[in-house]
Amino acid sequence: MTPVNFVDVKDNDAIFEGSGWDAVVVVTSSLDNIEFDEISLLASHGANIDARVGRSATLLFAPGLAGGRLIVSPVLNYASDVQDVRGYADAARKGLSLAKEAGARKPLLVVSLSHEGKYRQSLPVAALACGQELWQALELREAVIQRDTIESIGLLVSTEQAKVLNAIESGRHLARDLCGTEPERMSAPNFAQYCVNAFANTCLKVAVIEDRAVLERDYPLLSAVARSSFAVPRHQPRVVKVEYCADGDIERSYFFAGKGVVYDTGGADIKVAGGMAGMSRDKGGAAAVAGLMKTLSILKPKGIRVVAELGLVRNSIGSEAFVTDEIITSHAGVRVRIGNTDAEGRLVLADLLSHLRLKAINEPNAQLFSVATLTGHVVRCYGGYTAVVENPVAREQGVGERLQQLGEAWGEPLELSRLRREDYAKIVDPSGAADVLSSNNAPSSVTARGHQYPAAFLLKASGLQAHGINSDKPLVYAHVDIAGSAIEGDPLYGKPTAAPLVGLFQHLC
Ligand SMILES: [Zn+2]
Repeated sequence: MTPVNFVDVKDNDAIFEGSGWDAVVVVTSSLDNIEFDEISLLASHGANIDARVGRSATLLFAPGLAGGRLIVSPVLNYASDVQDVRGYADAARKGLSLAKEAGARKPLLVVSLSHEGKYRQSLPVAALACGQELWQALELREAVIQRDTIESIGLLVSTEQAKVLNAIESGRHLARDLCGTEPERMSAPNFAQYCVNAFANTCLKVAVIEDRAVLERDYPLLSAVARSSFAVPRHQPRVVKVEYCADGDIERSYFFAGKGVVYDTGGADIKVAGGMAGMSRDKGGAAAVAGLMKTLSILKPKGIRVVAELGLVRNSIGSEAFVTDEIITSHAGVRVRIGNTDAEGRLVLADLLSHLRLKAINEPNAQLFSVATLTGHVVRCYGGYTAVVENPVAREQGVGERLQQLGEAWGEPLELSRLRREDYAKIVDPSGAADVLSSNNAPSSVTARGHQYPAAFLLKASGLQAHGINSDKPLVYAHVDIAGSAIEGDPLYGKPTAAPLVGLFQHLC
């Protein structure tokens, strides 16, 4: 299964029979707001005999229209203060599902445009929602020959707009494959290989670190998390480095650390009472960053350099497992006391960020990000929303605020959390023997400021703390916790969303 193919349709006659499209799916705020008279007439006739038309997604017999099928899918609560652009995504998914069930293979998606600012990206949001709707799990695709899939979706957009949407969807498709796949099929070595294959014949530079001695020297905290996985060759860790560099002058540079815990048993602080199910999805951060790189490789935006490091580790349990109380020196030279082995993601990220820090120091307008399914607390705090925790340099430059505005417009809303001095107080090693304590010893979901304070740890253990506002070389850094937003629906087995790929892409380009 390849990502859904969006086709730019420039001729409005494509809505009619004989155009090659086999259904017209209309996403609209109301029946009065459909811009094609032929469709509007059919829809109002339909509403006369079926009160559901305009209230829920309905299929109408439509002689003369493409495929003889008209599907009208309303944006519910359009005029309400409560609704946002995701109302278009919901409507597009319902309309597309109905078209698919009805037998359509090449639907034409018509989105009635809105003048309301909050809906300004309604067309691309509706289109991308179709990609989300159609994605099927990699295990399923590899086990079963897929039939009855949508071949392509027609959009009344320019060639350039279709190209951007296809590139974003290619990245999201890759991200979902990487995030949503079970822990043996998408072990750390397999994740790395999947990336290598996905980036072959692109402009991206890719390197995979797999040598144990190199990993232990250069990524000591990551290697501690991986320690008991080294005994099983197919579970051994990998670090994937990916780089995009535009032709010509570079004006801005971005650095991403992605958490790719391919399975999280909790380690010696093992997850009990059923708490382990779903923990193959602890790699959504690395997956989203890999997907972002894929999108960039297709669109090749000018003026930017983007460097990513993906930390792929299985947090296994065994006689070699790292345990609490150990003190391990990070790549940045910070002595970290392990507070809880189930707080492993921040250990992985700290070493990745330290490497990125050294690269970012010499780059123009550098911004660093960590992207991770990091805490249960963020889910308790914000439900299904992404949280961004900025360092003061990022806050001064309005980075989080910009991400929030873009996410809102593009249907990936996020919450802005603020780093406080109490967050630093939480990572003090009470014994004084270590420079920093990795975590407290309770689940983050019952810890006050449980998703904010890990950003303080990341700043300190990665060496980024030395690049604050009053330093010689301030560096922008934002930590993005996607534990609540990486999966939709069933928290254990729901569909990966690839969040926050779309918002990050808009921020970069
Ligand atoms: Zn964990």
